Amino acid sequence: MLISRSNKESIQLSSDNDPSSQGITPEIAVNTDTIKGSQYWPASTLYVVATPIGNLSDISARAVQVLQAVDLIAAEDTRHSSGLVKHLNVDTPMIACHDHNEAAACKSVLDRLTAGQCVALISDAGTPLISDPGYKIVKSVREQGFRVAPIPGACAVISALSAAGLPTDRFAFEGFLPAKAQARQKRLQQLADATSTLVFYEAPHRIVATLQAMAEVLGAKREAVLARELTKRYETIIDGTLDELAQQVDADRNQQRGEMVILVRGAASLADDRSAEEQEADRILTVLLAELPAKQASILAVKLTGLKKNYLYKRAIALSSQDE
Ligand code: SAM
Repeated sequence: MLISRSNKESIQLSSDNDPSSQGITPEIAVNTDTIKGSQYWPASTLYVVATPIGNLSDISARAVQVLQAVDLIAAEDTRHSSGLVKHLNVDTPMIACHDHNEAAACKSVLDRLTAGQCVALISDAGTPLISDPGYKIVKSVREQGFRVAPIPGACAVISALSAAGLPTDRFAFEGFLPAKAQARQKRLQQLADATSTLVFYEAPHRIVATLQAMAEVLGAKREAVLARELTKRYETIIDGTLDELAQQVDADRNQQRGEMVILVRGAASLADDRSAEEQEADRILTVLLAELPAKQASILAVKLTGLKKNYLYKRAIALSSQDE
């Protein structure tokens, strides 16, 4: 069985990566221009392929290979993805696979896999299944005993975390909060004591209301980051307390545009990731804050610790909010 459509060349795998030991037929077909010795492409496989979240150059070489080689691409929106496949010079046939036709699309995919063909699943942007369709297909394909292979790449939650400067050792991806105010409030209340960094996707028309609700429920002084239009021309990453971010975004229409990720520092995870110097600064600030407002406490702390004023002010605000 071959992965590729008939016009693609087939090659034999090298023995150091023999997939027959894994029950996979050792013959594969790939575009020999891009073959790398350690890779193989088994038949009857569903490839879950990440596509860019803005910058088309973020598509991986392997993703392009797969999109070219498979027999079918199942796309969230074929019209949307036609621009990407054209850009990549890929002419693989596409079918639509979205929330409203997932059962029918699933059958088409299973039929192809049963016939020994390979299928790529893509969404409009980023990694399929991450706040995107595909879960039912992946689940069914695995239940039917076929192989599902991830082709990793862009994902807004991971991109935002990598640049936000908040702890990443533990994070909780919450996707989109409920759109209705009451349900959103309830979900935020459930998250208020979570110690991991919280990550949310949000739509531009709800960003101000969501930041305000977060400030109210999670604490006005909780540190947060808004990562907007990642990988694109107007990429902006701003940080501050939830209160500051809510005000800044409310006052600036530009901050209410485009695609966005909100990251919020977890509750009570503050001391864990600090150096001895930073922990000493926290101790000094705590003493000063008992007598002084945050601004004055941080000015004195600059003299005592030699650390940066901006950093100490943010810490003073965060420490004051812990005491509230
Ligand atoms: N599957 C995608 C992924 O891997 O990130 C997410 C799809 S979800 C339907 C779309 C949401 O992801 C947007 O509303 C936004 O919250 C976030 N997002 C996608 N692209 C982004 C970008 N370039 N910058 C910031 N957030 C982005």
